[in-house]
Amino acid sequence: MVVDERLVTYINSLDRGNTQILDTIEKEALESFVPIIRKEMQSFLKLLLAMQKPKRILEVGTAVGFSAILMAEYNPYPCEIVTIENDDKQIPIARENFLRAGKEKQITLIEGDATEVLKGIDAPFDEPFDMIFMDAAKGQYINFMPDIMRLLKKDGVLVSDNVLQDGDIIESRFAVERRNRTIHSRMREYLYELKHHKLLETSIIPLGDGVALS
Ligand code: SAH
Ligand code: MG
Repeated sequence: MVVDERLVTYINSLDRGNTQILDTIEKEALESFVPIIRKEMQSFLKLLLAMQKPKRILEVGTAVGFSAILMAEYNPYPCEIVTIENDDKQIPIARENFLRAGKEKQITLIEGDATEVLKGIDAPFDEPFDMIFMDAAKGQYINFMPDIMRLLKKDGVLVSDNVLQDGDIIESRFAVERRNRTIHSRMREYLYELKHHKLLETSIIPLGDGVALS
């Protein structure tokens, strides 16, 4: 947690909550230790949807489909969502959840490693995306960057989740657990890119586990 826990608890206590189906899916996900966006991030995404009103959203990292369904439920206008997942255990659960939520027509799940899948999405022919939600393996964001830039519409919004690595991002490489070091340096590289890319304006916000809004 990068923000004082009591502050987060207070902020979340003000939330008016989600639809029933989202509550059910969230509960099931948490019970089976599937990582899904936190309350603060849910609220932030709803606000972004209200502001951006995206017609097409790309999500990298579906898990059981919670955030995809949340975006489908709370976008002010019906929108098309493409979401990518490579975990064979999560894919059938996500598909089932899209059906339960009645969003199976709105959400297209593409199975496979995002590194390959993203290359296969052809922006000039398929329309580009007004919003991209990056929520996959943190160490890979930097590799997705060229395709993300190709697929993001002019005036589009890129939302990258979990960019502060539970606060580890500010530690020196050697203070970070060995198994997290590669992620640490790649995430730093990614954040540098987001902040210095000439086509992007990025704010890094200590919300949830850290979100970068570009
Ligand atoms: N957005 C979801 C949570 C995603 S958790 C929600 O909030 O409901 C991150 C997911 O990304 C995991 O299910 C993991 O399997 C998937 N993932 C990680 N790296 C990936 C990759 N390279 N290609 C496709 N999926 C990936
Ligand atoms: Mg996340």
